Amino acid sequence: MSRLIPALAAILAFGTAAQAQGELNIYSSRHYDTDDQLYAAFTEATGITVNRIEGEADELIARLEAEGANSPADVFITVDAGRMWRAEEKGLLQPVESTVLEERIPAALRHPENLWFGVSTRARVFFYAKDRVETPPQTYAELADPAWQGKLCVRSATNIYSLSLLASIIEHEGEEAARAWAEGFKANLAREPEGGDSDQLKALVSGQCDVAVSNTYYFARAVSSQVDGLTGSTDGIGVVFPNQETTGTHVNISAAAVTAHAPNRDAAVQFLEYLASDAAQEYFAGQNNEYPAVPGLATTEAVTALGTFKADELNLSALGRNQAAAERIYTETGWK
Ligand code: FE
Repeated sequence: MSRLIPALAAILAFGTAAQAQGELNIYSSRHYDTDDQLYAAFTEATGITVNRIEGEADELIARLEAEGANSPADVFITVDAGRMWRAEEKGLLQPVESTVLEERIPAALRHPENLWFGVSTRARVFFYAKDRVETPPQTYAELADPAWQGKLCVRSATNIYSLSLLASIIEHEGEEAARAWAEGFKANLAREPEGGDSDQLKALVSGQCDVAVSNTYYFARAVSSQVDGLTGSTDGIGVVFPNQETTGTHVNISAAAVTAHAPNRDAAVQFLEYLASDAAQEYFAGQNNEYPAVPGLATTEAVTALGTFKADELNLSALGRNQAAAERIYTETGWK
């Protein structure tokens, strides 16, 4: 993490030309101690004090809704475009006109009406046991092939990552094809879904399954720091970025938005623009082994080692739009 020190120095240089005073209230579902340093650097550069309320995403959404026009929140930060959609649906976000954000953040990673902006990305990929799998699947569609019967691991269908992956398939292939895929995949599960993405990777190590679906940062985390049951065993695990010949690999975001009733709107926009700066991008993404949303910036060593890939360029607002259909399809297939 020593590379983060120069990044912080660069962050401190941000905005020194325009010192402003004020306050900013952030509701965040990210729980990294290192985020404090990012916020402290923003305060140092702008004079704006940052107050942060942390919680589970859906709890924060409920809180924003209950507080209504009296909410002190200015910025909402969470992971997954599907969750931002839940906030959007409840009218909790407001559009932001910012040339900086429009120029810096690729169109696919921000809401078409600028209700939220992707700050970092993660890819939903396949990991496989190299000693047991000679020819790993190369597409999401292949996971539904009977050839993989009893060999796949993935987390629960009610999890937002599972819902968003299916939502992307609905967008590309339509509901009928998505249902057939979900049925085929479910029939190939090595076990009932349990645990998070790290648990699927651990199941590769223990031999419970041969191919696991997981976000990239869970693997990179096991390579770069200590994850019990995984660190030390990652050499036996291979990675596939799916759909390289077609739609590209499904990606999702950590995202930030200005809340509908933000009392400190200008500071909120300033903060979002700050998050889009090179140094803040590398720092924000690096802490969780994600990819910066702004193209061309550095990733951590463990992420770089995964290799480059073509990402799906679907506008991620589609994940929200298809969320309800995804939920229905999983329920219909009996996938828990
Ligand atoms: Fe996660």
